[in-house]
Amino acid sequence: MTFATLGLIDPLLRSLEKLGYQTPTPVQAQAIPAVLAGRDLMAAAQTGTGKTAGFALPLLQLLAMEGPKVAANSVRALILVPTRELAEQVHEAVRQYAENLPLRTYAVYGGVSINPQMMKLRGGVDLLVATPGRLLDLFRQNALKFNQLQTLVLDEADRMLDLGFSEELANIYRALPKKRQTLLFSATFSDDIRLLAGQMLNDPLSIEVSPRNVAANTVKQWIVTVDKKRKPELFVHLMRKGKWKQVLVFAKTRNGVDALVEKLQGLGVNADGIHGDKPQATRQRALDRFKIGEVQILVATDVAARGLDIEDLPLVVNFDLPIVAEDYIHRIGRTGRAGSTGEAISLVCADEVNLLSAIEMLTRQTLKRQNEPEFEPEHRVPETDASGQVIKKPKKPKKPKVSGGGGKRNLGKWVDSGDAAPAEPAVKPVRKVPVFNTGPRKRKP
Ligand code: AMP
Repeated sequence: MTFATLGLIDPLLRSLEKLGYQTPTPVQAQAIPAVLAGRDLMAAAQTGTGKTAGFALPLLQLLAMEGPKVAANSVRALILVPTRELAEQVHEAVRQYAENLPLRTYAVYGGVSINPQMMKLRGGVDLLVATPGRLLDLFRQNALKFNQLQTLVLDEADRMLDLGFSEELANIYRALPKKRQTLLFSATFSDDIRLLAGQMLNDPLSIEVSPRNVAANTVKQWIVTVDKKRKPELFVHLMRKGKWKQVLVFAKTRNGVDALVEKLQGLGVNADGIHGDKPQATRQRALDRFKIGEVQILVATDVAARGLDIEDLPLVVNFDLPIVAEDYIHRIGRTGRAGSTGEAISLVCADEVNLLSAIEMLTRQTLKRQNEPEFEPEHRVPETDASGQVIKKPKKPKKPKVSGGGGKRNLGKWVDSGDAAPAEPAVKPVRKVPVFNTGPRKRKP
């Protein structure tokens, strides 16, 4: 199969040739003809599957072949994405695909001045990539009208809900013409996504290109157990031992990102960090420098790193496990792409045992443990397996109470001091995703 047999026009084929795309990926093979035929789409596809071209190519073709010229402050196709980085990345791909077409494309997102964006929109834009918050700001300030809109793409829809964009999505949805084509892409399909799809899509074609919730099997995954306070030290030890060259590291919080970057820079390591508190230009610069190898270790929170396409990344390290198990799949999806092998290492402390268990249950595998001598934890991480059980260590028999000496003062002596982590069966962390139409949650972890 070729891109030509999928029905793409010559200007697009020439762009693809220049980019070196020879064969359509499975998601492209299914999505391109369906989108060209005007169908709505509900696609389960992770980053790395070629999904961006899967929706962008046919969309550009429809825009080039059909419809009126775009009017002032109007937009004909809208791609909604959860993060600023993703907006830039998707727009860059669109720009390359559209090189030989007379179409105007643009990206808008928060964290940068709105005025240049308002100016640019004055002339109308055929295809706009946007984050939901900034899009609504522009709409409310009358910088944007949707009456010419013919296609809406929700990219990484699960992430948009996770980030609390459900209210913004509902508001955008209300402002759009009812008659339109809608394409929804999501790495995972929770009940909330299905609800969203039910409201937004019309008789969609379902596409699933990778088994649901299963991590790429080209990624070698393992964990090292360690006490929480020794994680930075273990990281440095592993980095030196493994002679790590280009590593994307995930930490849970912004402070965690900053602390690790500071430690690494203090050791003379070329490290940088990205998280929601940093100005957009700084985030983008760190990312660009990482991509070209000027930064060796990039530490990021989930939000900042979601959906990033970094070619041939050999190693991902989870300095902290993600709170939402699905994020594990997204994180390790940055490596082992397009058949290349990759490695994903997670540093796990006793507090994280339930998160570990949830990941193993979701990915249907028990992650191999590889302990580092010198770093064996004092607070043991209980054994876990893919069934979602945390395997409890048998408790020592209780000593009989000594009369008169009871009370809280002596309790410590009689309680099994074994594990710092809760020993009850693991419960998958509840993904507190508000149903579509309800209030927003945190936006920038
Ligand atoms: P995506 O899943 O859209 O983030 O794409 C992942 C990467 O695959 C991007 O770097 C694309 O440029 C690349 N890509 C997408 N489709 C193809 C293709 N058919 N052949 C080669 N590379 C592709």
